[in-house]
Amino acid sequence: MRADLLKKELEIFTFGDLLTHFPFRHLDRTTVQAIGQITPQMDHVQVRGVLISMNTAGEKRGRRLVAQLRDRTGIIELTWFQGINWVQKALTIGQEFLVFGKLGFFLGKPQITHPEMEAIQSSKTEVKNFLDPIYPVTEKLKARGLHGRAIGKLTEQLFQLISEKELPENLPSDILLKEKYLSRWEAFRYIHFPPTIEKKDQAIHRLKFEEFFMAQLRLGMLRSARHRFSKGVVFTKVDKYFNDFYHQLLPFPLTGAQKRVLKEIRQDMGTGKQMNRLLQGDVGSGKTIVALMAMLIAIDNGFQSCIMAPTEILAKQHFDNFSEMLSPLELEVVLLTGSTKAAQRKKILAQILEGQVQIIIGTHALIEETVQFKNLGLAVIDEQHKFGVAQRAKLWQKSNVPPHVLVMTATPIPRTLAMTAYGDLDYSVIDELPPGRKPIHTVHRLDDARPQVMDFIRSEITLGRQIYFIFPLIEESEKMQYEDLMKGYENVKAWFPEPQYWISMVHGRMPADQKEVNMQRFIKKETQIMVGTTVIEVGVNVPNASVMVIESAEKFGLSQLHQLRGRVGRGSEKSYCILLSGSQVGREAKDRLGVMCATNDGFKIAEKDLEIRGPGDIQGTRQSGALNFKLANIVDDREILEKAKLEVDRLLKNDPDLLKHENAGLKNFLHYEQGKTAWGRIS
Ligand code: ADP
Ligand code: MG
Repeated sequence: MRADLLKKELEIFTFGDLLTHFPFRHLDRTTVQAIGQITPQMDHVQVRGVLISMNTAGEKRGRRLVAQLRDRTGIIELTWFQGINWVQKALTIGQEFLVFGKLGFFLGKPQITHPEMEAIQSSKTEVKNFLDPIYPVTEKLKARGLHGRAIGKLTEQLFQLISEKELPENLPSDILLKEKYLSRWEAFRYIHFPPTIEKKDQAIHRLKFEEFFMAQLRLGMLRSARHRFSKGVVFTKVDKYFNDFYHQLLPFPLTGAQKRVLKEIRQDMGTGKQMNRLLQGDVGSGKTIVALMAMLIAIDNGFQSCIMAPTEILAKQHFDNFSEMLSPLELEVVLLTGSTKAAQRKKILAQILEGQVQIIIGTHALIEETVQFKNLGLAVIDEQHKFGVAQRAKLWQKSNVPPHVLVMTATPIPRTLAMTAYGDLDYSVIDELPPGRKPIHTVHRLDDARPQVMDFIRSEITLGRQIYFIFPLIEESEKMQYEDLMKGYENVKAWFPEPQYWISMVHGRMPADQKEVNMQRFIKKETQIMVGTTVIEVGVNVPNASVMVIESAEKFGLSQLHQLRGRVGRGSEKSYCILLSGSQVGREAKDRLGVMCATNDGFKIAEKDLEIRGPGDIQGTRQSGALNFKLANIVDDREILEKAKLEVDRLLKNDPDLLKHENAGLKNFLHYEQGKTAWGRIS
């Protein structure tokens, strides 16, 4: 019965589950309080005294039993609303009790409702002296009498059945020694039943370290196995295409960071092992050109390469951009998206299969079964967070020898998150923006400041600049939001009427060719204003646009705001981002807008985002399972994470397959755990 309930309500199936069902706090029963010294700030109190009176009061539902307990310093009131008859029989006036419970104050006097009472039989009775664990439970469990402390009783019994043998040490002894960590057995006992607060904290720390350590170890072993055993196509040389492009066609000198990253990629692709690399960089840091040049290396070695983008607009933009930059090289570049017409598609598919095209640019359409490459050597995934784990993986299941994979982020990912969620990938960072970028001046304005905002925009248009208005259309199927967008469009139009002003609009429900017409008119400066949804969030590059207005900015997440803001500030002009909101903005949203106004640095914003939101669903990592820690948290415990990572790196350097005798416990542990947890690979 109880077992069934535990299974259903808390997913506790085994003793192991019970052991890892940790208390969320402990009640301090290490001290006995003098009644006269109780203050309202105290939470739970334990007192010792003599029962001096006991009376019922009230009628019907208000009926209660009220007793008084006295020690040498004062009197405290004890109250019961339930089980009154039973309590009355069980307690005797004049008897001494040890009493524990949650403190309340009534008319300035201390009282405890439904206290725990223990009669003190003789002066020898030991006063309870421990930290009492309180466990998370559900309402249903409570209703059946399995409250937070009853679970403690079960756990206590369990500890009488098991011994150190059942919880063998799994961390290397040099770490235990160096960090002065509790043994695993001690840690498990003390996290439930600590003798002191200090021991409890030590137990929690050790178990958090263990969680991070094991997670890092698994990822590290995956990475190390790939480095040593995976088969990848070898790119032995850098040849004509790369060199011609580099020496004659590159439109600007690369930044130091771009050069460094390109070198890392080139080395990686030359090893004969499969590259699996995450490329991080802030909005506008120039990831695209790095990807393009890596793709040229693939072509120099006789392979095809592809780049997959999350939207048609972005794919088309990459296509135009690549086609233009590469035109002197006479390479075949094709675009394949959901709206490629059937006849055209058929032709392109044949060209890809026969190897007549070298560079393939596309959307999700690239991962469909019908797309067969002749010899795909490198797959680039732009704005990786827009794709699911499984989707990405499909791309390189397409060849016998897996292609090299370069995964690019839209905005930076916090370091701790990258370490955990993408820890099996190698990692490159572009931490430098191209020269001459000016910070984008960002302000938060309330809706009623709209007239001034519009005046400012008019003056920018007069100077020849272009403007974005973004509306929060998050679920593109939602009718309400669609109507909001149309209203927004009419509103902008009322401020900026034709024929003096022309407006483009794009949104997710629009057919691709219509999107394209609207984009092109904006790019060619035939329209001064672009009204859009987050479909233009990713990638779009119109350097003459200098103002980004974000409507209902409170509805956007931080990385999305930063990404949207990155659409301006791409040219030589000073650029602005105006965040509009109503006056009623929640706390978290206010924090977000504040961060946006305070900094342009995507790495800082990413850290703040993680702090504000917690490690929930940032950049599509939820499905990965890599963040499912029981105790540890990558925000609050980042120092422990860094330490675990350091130790894992050291360990794997010395003993990559855990063959040494001193790592046998660790190996056994991983082996055993493998059966239990399915660790989805990220990419
Ligand atoms: P993101 O990293 O956000 O994808 P992009 O690759 O779109 O950024 O680059 C943003 C803009 O910066 C583009 O217009 C690109 O041509 C330009 N750019 C990239 N690298 C450099 C550089 N080294 N010097 C000057 N401009 C650059
Ligand atoms: Mg980009």
